[in-house]
Amino acid sequence: MTIDLRPYLAAVPAVVVERLRGARRVLAVGHENPDADTLGATIGIVHIVASTGGTADPVCTDPIPPLYGFLPGVERFRTDPEPDAEYDLLVVSDCGSLDRIGEVRGRHPELFERLPRVVIDHHASNAAAGEADWIEPGSAATCEMVALLAARVGLPLDAGNGALAAALMAGIVMDTATFAHPNATPRTLAVSSALVEAGAPLSDISRRLYRSKPAAQLHLFGRVLDRLDEVDGGRVVFSTLLDADIAATGTLAAHSEGIIDLLAQADAAEVAILFKEAGKATRISVRTKPGGVDATVLTGKFGGGGHARAAGATVELPVDLARPAVLAEATRLAAEVAR
Ligand code: 5GP
Ligand code: MN
Repeated sequence: MTIDLRPYLAAVPAVVVERLRGARRVLAVGHENPDADTLGATIGIVHIVASTGGTADPVCTDPIPPLYGFLPGVERFRTDPEPDAEYDLLVVSDCGSLDRIGEVRGRHPELFERLPRVVIDHHASNAAAGEADWIEPGSAATCEMVALLAARVGLPLDAGNGALAAALMAGIVMDTATFAHPNATPRTLAVSSALVEAGAPLSDISRRLYRSKPAAQLHLFGRVLDRLDEVDGGRVVFSTLLDADIAATGTLAAHSEGIIDLLAQADAAEVAILFKEAGKATRISVRTKPGGVDATVLTGKFGGGGHARAAGATVELPVDLARPAVLAEATRLAAEVAR
């Protein structure tokens, strides 16, 4: 291995290393509606714990969308903890708040309350302040942090014949849009370089996550793009994804992944918003231009969070009421941006 990550390893808190090394049975959880970063980071924790002689069970409250089926190790995810396991540590990856763990937390409140905890996350809006909560908003992906953690505990990044490297690479590709977002730093590239050297198939991962879709999903995108609308002279663009679109195209809710990034290509848009029907509530995805509106401020008004350029929330209103409320706030914030 020629890539030297040692200059970056001081970022890994000693208490995180100690808790992981001391754990025998780890409950490793990611966020609801999983993406490649939460899945890759959680798989990374499984490898790290195994390397120190323990066992980690990867848990995600939702079924894993088929798009992520290629991640090595993803088949081990369960929707709930093992009933008879004697867990001694909870590791939470890529959750901007503990609510993002989703319903599994409410199904096992005593367990989630009792276990000592490590949080590993890169969301700017994360307010976690536990002793072993490691929050780095400057990290492009939680997988970037977990790669450093693996290196710090002495686990070679080519562990599992490249399985570890592939899972971690997928999270970085996902959260940087293959190094296109401004969150990709020299450290992101150094870590990625080490992962490619360790066997991660970068180009294949990027193609799977960003440039390959079932045709039905393209039809879904078509319906939502056709409904593109704007306010404030195009400084706020938005569209809506209805349950009827999912039904008409025979797709899954997870197939909406990527639509918001197309809306955000509108060149005059300070703010792009996708409204997604979610029963009596509405999910919003928000993207904003560099140097402009802080997306976490907009989503924060509705109880959500995320990153400055990409954030989301669940608005407790049906879509026809959520839309005007969110657009009013977006327009107000966009008006504060001087270009
Ligand atoms: P997306 O729009 O791709 O679903 O999410 C963009 C970013 O915002 C992701 O980093 C995601 O973790 C975060 N995010 C999405 N929805 C929520 C939410 O309801 N609450 C919080 N705190 N963060 C969210
Ligand atoms: Mn992430």
